[in-house]
This record gives sequence, C-alpha cells and structure tokens, in this order.
Amino acid sequence: MQAVAVWPERRSVDVVEVAAPALGSPLEVRLRMLAVGVCGTDAEICSFSYGGTPPEGEESLIVGHEAIGLVIETGPEVSRLRTGDLAVPMVRRPCTVPHCSPCRSGHPDFCVTGEYTERGIKGAHGFLAGEVVEEERYLVAVPPPLREVGVLTEPLTIAEKALRQFVEVRRRFPWLSTASEAELLAGGSAVVLGAGAVGILGCMLLRQRGFQVVVYSRGRKPNPSAALVESLGAAYVSSEETPLVEVSRRAGAIDLVYEATGASKLAFDALQYLGANGVFVFTGVPGRKARVEIAADAIMRNLVLRNQTVLGTVNAGRADYEAAIRDLELFQAAWPGALAALITGRYPMSRFCDRARSHDKIKDVIEPADAK
Ligand SMILES: [Zn+2]
Ligand SMILES: [Zn+2]
Repeated sequence: MQAVAVWPERRSVDVVEVAAPALGSPLEVRLRMLAVGVCGTDAEICSFSYGGTPPEGEESLIVGHEAIGLVIETGPEVSRLRTGDLAVPMVRRPCTVPHCSPCRSGHPDFCVTGEYTERGIKGAHGFLAGEVVEEERYLVAVPPPLREVGVLTEPLTIAEKALRQFVEVRRRFPWLSTASEAELLAGGSAVVLGAGAVGILGCMLLRQRGFQVVVYSRGRKPNPSAALVESLGAAYVSSEETPLVEVSRRAGAIDLVYEATGASKLAFDALQYLGANGVFVFTGVPGRKARVEIAADAIMRNLVLRNQTVLGTVNAGRADYEAAIRDLELFQAAWPGALAALITGRYPMSRFCDRARSHDKIKDVIEPADAK
C-alpha cells in the first residue's frame, strides 16, 4: 500500500510503498483510510520545524492525524465496531510513566511528562496510508451520514475540549455551581480569532450552544470563510478593516475568546478586551519568531480586577471526540452544506505538503489512492 512519510534526517517527505499492517492483537481493528485532513501541524512537519518524530528505532514517520476510515477487519475481542462501520482514530497515546495520573487514568491529552506519543506527529505512525491498524479503544464510531465530513471530527475536538473547560471555569461561580451546562452557556458572547477550520468549527459549536459570536480574521470581505461564518448567524470582521477596540465595543462584554490563529501579538492584544469573569482560550501554537510588544500592565490589571481566566488547551479526550461527532450531526441539521463547504479540496497523496502549506484553503483533505 501507499503512505506518505517524513524523513527528518534527510529532510524529505515522500509517497512510499510500505507493507499493509496486520492485526497484532485481538483488540485491534483494521481500517481502510478514506480521508486525512491537513493542518498547520502538517505544514510544520513539512518544514521540519515541529513534529514529524519517527517511532523509536525508525528513520521515518507516516504522517496524518486528522482522519476517517472504514472498518475492514476486526479482532475477535472487538466488541463495538463491525466491518463496514466508519471510525475516526484519536491522536494521542499515553506515556508509560507510572506517576503520570492523566495517562494512567486514560486522559493522555493532559499528560504531564511529555513522553506521550501522537499518531502522525510524534513517535507513532499516522493515518495517511491506504490502511491503518488501531486498537478499538482509540477509535470512535461515526454514523454513515457523516462519511464525507467526519474528517472534521479531530479539528472540532479542540473546540469541544475548550468549551468543556469553559463550562468548568464558569461553574466556579457560587451562584452557578448547580447550573446545567445550557444555563452556564446561556446568553454568552464570544470572539473567535481566526477563520481557518479550527476557528470556523469553534464558531459553529458556539453558535449551536447559543453564543453571540464575532469571528475576527485577516481577510477582507467578501471571502469564502466570511460567507460561511455569516451563514452561521455570526459576524465576520476583518482585522485589515476594523481594529480590535471597535470589535469589543460592538460585542459588549466578552465572556470567551477562542484563539485559533497561533498569532501571539493578535492574541495578547485581544486579551485586553476580555470582559469581567471572562475566559481566554489559547489553541494555536506560534512559531518561534521575534519578541512582540504587549500591553502587559493592562492585561495583568484586567486579569486581577476582572477575575479573568487564561487557559491553553491541546489535543482532546474520548469524550471530546464523541461530543464532536454528535455535534457534527447537529451542525448538518442546523446549517445544511456548511460542513461540506469547509472542505475546500480533495487531493492525492503526492499533494500533502503542498496543500498543508497553502493559504488558499479552509480544510483540504488527502485521499489515499485506494480510498473509494
Ligand atoms: Zn491538525
Ligand atoms: Zn503521561
């Protein structure tokens, strides 16, 4: 079968012919991969700046971490998935350090040792291959109507995990300690930074939960992301036309800023406009560039005087994957065609790096040669 692999030593990324994987335990499932999304992490792998670490003792890593596959074989002890089912694989695998409570309790997305592996990114082969074998416990079933858009599950899990933490932070208020999740989210106002796939999926989730949302992104209107954002009932504001201070004036008290750009200057500038008791969630990973100037005193003053919370979030747990799949179905019902419009192109394996690096996409996916 064919796969796309990165060789960090010789700085190359190639389509290669490798042996198809076989079931190695009765708990494993074999999948034929249907689609693999590309994102900023893949762009960094292609520039050899982050990720792309081969498994121990190997020289290359099969890439791809946002995926959907079709179950083609199940081990005798697999209980939930059957041949013909669709499934999305989770990305991170636990470390083996005995004192790592998150990993030992099944939550490697909160690993404290950094010794975790991530399929397609760090120390474990990814999903951009004709076939993949994975343990059932790391697979999440996807209903057939989501076949074409299920590849968006992984990028949506980032927002799911962020929102789950937002809910927990709001629960700290004594008058909301027994409130339902819907009550904790009711009437919220959010600003989403960035109109890439992570930003727009975050916008969808927040709109679905009843937030007023402003998406703040670089491109001037009209553009496809802006049209998509507005079709969700959110506002789209271009940073080239409108300063942040104007956005904060229009949005009123901002309860949540969902950062999805990895642009540090923009993020810290936006932090100044967070409302009282608000939460700022960082999801982007900036490159190591020159120092930026930020309004540190104003930010620190607000953090204290307005009881604000800043949190970073990476990866996601099983509950977030399951929530993402339920929400993709809700999004399909609420905004028919919107998820499909997020997928801006489908390409062969040979285009992996080219599409990962491109800026003229929302979410591009790679289809392994024998995907159909
Ligand atoms: Zn990704
Ligand atoms: Zn760990």
